Amino acid sequence: MHEYSLVEALVRRVEQEARRRQALAIRGLTVSVGELSGVDPELFRTAYETFRAGSLCAETPLTLKRLEARWSCPACRAPIARGAVLRCPTCDVPARLDEGSDALTLDSIDMEVP
Ligand SMILES: [Zn+2]
Repeated sequence: MHEYSLVEALVRRVEQEARRRQALAIRGLTVSVGELSGVDPELFRTAYETFRAGSLCAETPLTLKRLEARWSCPACRAPIARGAVLRCPTCDVPARLDEGSDALTLDSIDMEVP
């Protein structure tokens, strides 16, 4: 399950960041899971619960946000409605998938720093 390797990478990155800023504690993590990221949020959460033991995130709650897939026009930036033809009716160019729709994004790390 690739959720485990994603969680491992996430925790390592958070630990690095925490050490760099000499954080006393990590109070919370917020992660966005894009609808088209191929990541199962439930599996991701389960993986996190397993993996965080013994890490700097052992006491850190995880907030997962599901990000709906969205498309927009790369030229005029008009949003393209879900289920519509993926093409801007004004500019006649193909719509582009918005950032985050197919990604796993670490939105924020809430750290206690000295
Ligand atoms: Zn357009």
